Amino acid sequence: MMRGFWMMKMNRTTCPCAKLRKARQTKRRRTLSNLRNTTVTGRMSWGEVEAVIRGDKQAYGSCFAVWGWGSQEQHGPRMPLDTDALIAEHFAQLIARERHVLQFPTVPIGMSRHHEAFPGTVSLSQEAAYGVAASVLRSLHRMGVTHLFALMGHGGNVNPFHAAVQGLGKEIAGLTVCEPLDALFYTTEGELGELLNSFGETVSHAGAAECSIIYAIMDDHERRVDIADLNAVKITDDMVTLGGHGVGTQGGNPEAFRQMFPYGSKGDQRKSDTTRGRRMLHLMEQALLAKFDEFVTPTLATTRRQ
Ligand SMILES: [Zn+2]
Repeated sequence: MMRGFWMMKMNRTTCPCAKLRKARQTKRRRTLSNLRNTTVTGRMSWGEVEAVIRGDKQAYGSCFAVWGWGSQEQHGPRMPLDTDALIAEHFAQLIARERHVLQFPTVPIGMSRHHEAFPGTVSLSQEAAYGVAASVLRSLHRMGVTHLFALMGHGGNVNPFHAAVQGLGKEIAGLTVCEPLDALFYTTEGELGELLNSFGETVSHAGAAECSIIYAIMDDHERRVDIADLNAVKITDDMVTLGGHGVGTQGGNPEAFRQMFPYGSKGDQRKSDTTRGRRMLHLMEQALLAKFDEFVTPTLATTRRQ
């Protein structure tokens, strides 16, 4: 199994730097030799995390990490409340597993104020959301992480996250951030864009496209029982309301939102299709891995020159 992004790149036989990379691979193995085969920091000891950070810094002058941030919010009649948390966790696990970078714990609650009129939704206040983002950024920076691949499973977390990155400014100088996931859900490009928009409705909160993707993810995470139960919930025509991305969220008034979308989804979940969901999930995974490789490439290029 490939253990790092540099090793993935090593497999390209055309690469002129194969020898140099081979040496780095050996060094990397030494760094990890005493560690278990995980980069999920919650399952490691602090000493193991320190060893990985120190080893990466010595070898590459940088240390990469991945972190997911989800939400607990209503997603209409047939989707679970932890949809966004599961999405963030799924993709964070993927990056950690495939590129062998440190994974920090997915935060399961986000800023979902406008969904609060639906029971089960638990929202952070704006200040708390800023505080979560700022705290994670500070801690990671302090321990020596230099590059953070941050995965927002919930659109409402994007603004507080960017506000924290900007607000902390010099305090986290040296920490480079990439936040690619939310945009992927609204792409109109390529096969993914076509599939997302193939349900006869605008891609939006808890619509058919998101429902298809979450069923594919739940299937991957052994939650077939949940899919069967949720899928059995009856949806009648009068329960279906359509609405674009961002509609009803202005002002963040929970009652106004519920009035506009009485059943919580901005789309027809009866149209969800796990086969299309699987394909979209696969395309998103490939796109995120490619984005991650793009994110690390400048650093690798610099290391190579040294
Ligand atoms: Zn969602």
